[in-house]
Amino acid sequence: MTSDGPRFDTRLDRFVDNYANRTRGMRVSAVRALFAVANRPEIVSLAGGMPNIKDLPLPDIADDLAQLVRDNGTQIMQYGSGQGEPRIREQILDVMALEGIEANADDVLITAGSQQALDLVSRIFLDPGDVVLAESPSYVGALGTFLSYEADVVHVPSDESGLDPQALHETATRLEADDRRIKFLYTIPNYNNPSGLTQPWERRIEVLRVCEQHGILVVEDNPYGLLSLDAEPIPAMRSAGADVIYLGSFSKTFAPGFRVGWALAPHAIREKLVLAQESATLCPPVFSQFAISNYLDKQDWKGQIGVYRDMYRERRDAMLAALEDFMPPGSTWTHPKGGFFVWVSMPEGVDSQSMMARGVDARVAFVPGGAFYADGQGARNVRLSYCFPTVENIRIGVERFADVLEGELDV
Ligand code: PMP
Repeated sequence: MTSDGPRFDTRLDRFVDNYANRTRGMRVSAVRALFAVANRPEIVSLAGGMPNIKDLPLPDIADDLAQLVRDNGTQIMQYGSGQGEPRIREQILDVMALEGIEANADDVLITAGSQQALDLVSRIFLDPGDVVLAESPSYVGALGTFLSYEADVVHVPSDESGLDPQALHETATRLEADDRRIKFLYTIPNYNNPSGLTQPWERRIEVLRVCEQHGILVVEDNPYGLLSLDAEPIPAMRSAGADVIYLGSFSKTFAPGFRVGWALAPHAIREKLVLAQESATLCPPVFSQFAISNYLDKQDWKGQIGVYRDMYRERRDAMLAALEDFMPPGSTWTHPKGGFFVWVSMPEGVDSQSMMARGVDARVAFVPGGAFYADGQGARNVRLSYCFPTVENIRIGVERFADVLEGELDV
């Protein structure tokens, strides 16, 4: 551009006042802020929840994909159905059958990961000030989505069997007395992120009964269900026959980079979700859907889930053994039966947020518990993940974390 060319106002702060009110609820996730630090090579990261996909049969998948492009390239690179491709919706029924779900492919909507399903569910249900009930603690990414739609997240206490139905009843009763609109309960019954806790079947039924009594819709988020490490998966809440929006994902059972997840919803809700999906993206990623369909057809996907289970079991065991060996007295932690995470509860007075900087000095990263609450709880907690580091690094990382905590207790 020459000096006598057109001039425009390029001050960066001109539009800040134009942001919609809902952007006030958008917070930088503590997990994201941590990633920059956690990726430094000298740091052992027990922070991220990235699936460990190093054991995928990449050469075979590459051959299958090349063939797929040659045979069906113009179809798989075209726009597709707003609801998702019919073939993958059928195949997803087989995946869900492993957790006892019987469903119709017409009630499945494909999404860009289950994260997008959370967004679409929020988009069709949440007005500012509506209440979303969530476990204590709950998935940071879901909380961020609910807050970005200006909902009030109200946490329901959990015990070692997950969400407490009696506490749910009491919370719902109190909110109803205050004339608050509860739009849904968001729950992760299997290997909760971040607590690692699992709800036994009887608990699931009790929670469904309380929700039925109070007219509360249940959103069951289940990305880890098939990554059970000790026993066969417990049937999903959705399998019990109640009206539930069930969210599934290929991110942990195959690979997250395809960004393919799904929502299974009662028919009328599913229709609204498709409309929301069309306005968000026209259609979910077609190439990714075909790639996954092809993988499910051609590769031993159940065998691969078995490979993942063995790998995560070894890592989980390494973390629990290291915690046993190194943690100072006064702390407790969960013993997950699946998934990626251990939730540590530390003595009164410890502040996990301020421990982070000392953790970085000690070359270990973890996520402070406050990230998993919308209401300021979690100061005495941290989430440790065992999914990504090597067994050796898990032990080193836990030892460093225990040292940091010991220093904190001495202060
Ligand atoms: N729900 C939970 C509980 C999760 O832990 C995650 C990923 N960390 C997601 C949803 C989103 O997963 P994706 O979008 O990759 O399916």
